[in-house]
Amino acid sequence: MADQAYTGSLPLRAHGRTTKASPSDVRRLNRSLIFNLLFPASRYSRAQLGRMTGLSRVAVSDVVAGMLDEGLIRENGHVSPVAGKGKRAMLLSVDTTRLRIISIDLAQPHLVQGALTDLLGNPLQHMESALGPDVRVDADTIVQLVDQLTADLDMGSLVGIGVAVPGVVRGGVVSESTALGWRDVDLKTVLETRFTVPVTIADNVMCTMLTERFFGQAGPNLVFVKIGHGIGSATLINDVPVIGEQHAGGEIGHISPDPEHGPLCPCGKRGCMERVISAVVLRERMIGADETTRTAIIREAGEYFASAMAMPVGLLDISDVCVYGPADVVNDTFLEAAQRRLDAMTLSKFHDRASIRRCQCGAEATLRGAAVVVVLHHLEEE
Ligand SMILES: [Zn+2]
Repeated sequence: MADQAYTGSLPLRAHGRTTKASPSDVRRLNRSLIFNLLFPASRYSRAQLGRMTGLSRVAVSDVVAGMLDEGLIRENGHVSPVAGKGKRAMLLSVDTTRLRIISIDLAQPHLVQGALTDLLGNPLQHMESALGPDVRVDADTIVQLVDQLTADLDMGSLVGIGVAVPGVVRGGVVSESTALGWRDVDLKTVLETRFTVPVTIADNVMCTMLTERFFGQAGPNLVFVKIGHGIGSATLINDVPVIGEQHAGGEIGHISPDPEHGPLCPCGKRGCMERVISAVVLRERMIGADETTRTAIIREAGEYFASAMAMPVGLLDISDVCVYGPADVVNDTFLEAAQRRLDAMTLSKFHDRASIRRCQCGAEATLRGAAVVVVLHHLEEE
């Protein structure tokens, strides 16, 4: 699954130009076509890229020269010559040595995490800012963190700043974030004015999902769920993330499968997903409980989770459900119970088994994904 090259793009800006493609549009398209083949970790020669894209030798050379100049790719080793035929062709790969990205994760409670990364989102430097229990994150905290991360940086090498937020994002404006206590915060403009580089603001779950897609096990079709303080999801169909009509695709935390008898939620409804299976709620229930009870709580959560996932799995015919969450909640008991329930609900002659698995991308998956969003956006813009 993981070796299928990424073929999508990020529709972060809804509805692009619909007029006739200009030469610069064509050039930009060719550029992302070639970059997508190399990203994250492939090496190809110009001739190989020509065969894979169907572009002429001249077009490939032209686009490659531009990307080499810009620092997006570099020459990195060479192909062995075929039985003394011609000279050895140089291989090209993504250049991790020159361009830099600032990545910020706002999805963790009482903590702002930031990193300076290379083009593959590998963190080169970390900073974080811990907040008191009653302190809300504001734009100033983020500006200070970016200031520290860029203190010794040649700003000419900075491609952009990517921020992962828990909430609904429309065109760089965080229109609603319960976790941050924000409504209509134009973080993009604040940061772009201050640092004069492009800023991308994206939903945190989508960022984590992109890390799973590029560096984990996922293929081009995936339902990704993050269980933590709250619950969020993201969906990838043929490598295009589903953003949704209200830009709120994946906001499943306050969908209630049991609006009459479930526990009361701060949003006013009963039985919201977040009130039943978020890590916070499950941990509260497990305090002081014996092993048997703890296992029962987690098993029940797994079953509940799978019941909720059965419909999108069937609706979209997706066979990969990936869960990101803390190890004391998303453990083997959770996954086994979830898988059994999902099988019971979905298996049929025409529906192969959809598997529920744990994301293995580690604690920095969201930071890394926010950097990936910056790279993809950069390729679409220029
Ligand atoms: Zn709710």
